[in-house]
Amino acid sequence: MTDQPAIQVEDLHKRFGTVEVLKGVSLTARPGDVVAVIGGSGSGKSTMLRCINLLETPSAGRISIKGEAYEMRSVRGEMEPANRKQVQRIRAHLGMVFQSFNLWPHRTVLGNVTEVPIHVLGVKRAEAEARAIAVLERVGLGDKRDAWPAQLSGGQQQRCAIARVLAVEPTAMLFDEPTSALDPELVNEVLSVIRDLASEKRTMILVTHEMAFARDVATHVIFLRDGRIEEEGPPEQIFGAPRSPHLQQFIRSVA
Ligand code: ADP
Ligand code: MG
Repeated sequence: MTDQPAIQVEDLHKRFGTVEVLKGVSLTARPGDVVAVIGGSGSGKSTMLRCINLLETPSAGRISIKGEAYEMRSVRGEMEPANRKQVQRIRAHLGMVFQSFNLWPHRTVLGNVTEVPIHVLGVKRAEAEARAIAVLERVGLGDKRDAWPAQLSGGQQQRCAIARVLAVEPTAMLFDEPTSALDPELVNEVLSVIRDLASEKRTMILVTHEMAFARDVATHVIFLRDGRIEEEGPPEQIFGAPRSPHLQQFIRSVA
């Protein structure tokens, strides 16, 4: 059981209208894996992440979380989730951190972190708040619990978004370019939180343009190009000895 993948994606396809943006992507994240996903703009990185928690509905393929496959059905040739309760239950433990923070503006920092535990997971308020305070301390926001999102810097907002994910005791954490919207001087405070989580062997899939960081924290790197995995492997191989000319060129272009 311990070796059961936290996330398994098999032959994932995603079409928008007639355009196929994911053309058969497979990946496995075992507990403790940090899978970095790199690739140019429009290669399908966000779509792939969004399919994993069913923010987008796959057109074909199979996705399992801790060994449990999403139940899908076909309606007039289109796939759709067949079991809303299952999706809600699985998604509640798949924390996603977006480029644009996505905090609830009318909830305090503490309110943002306790919202899902209380209202989706049914945790008692006192317990949820105690846990929220602990995770806020972890990300260095212990003194900001009563602040509003608009009063925080971008780096603080993103650390709050990470705390919100930690509060649900995630099966895995999904990061979609978590530092791309930040001013350069705020990038490191967020990367250092993610680095700590990686070193605790938390399972994560991390879409990032921070190549040095990916090389440092990833256990496995996937290079997406035009909706397909063009090359994948350990970071030393992907960054140190890339084989695909497209990957070589991509690495040069972002270096
Ligand atoms: P990346 O995150 O690698 O930059 P995306 O997954 O955002 O790439 O997008 C992959 C492709 O899918 C792009 O061509 C994009 O325009 C297209 N796309 C993404 N979301 C939608 C959507 N909701 N409707 C139509 N096309 C989309
Ligand atoms: Mg994207």
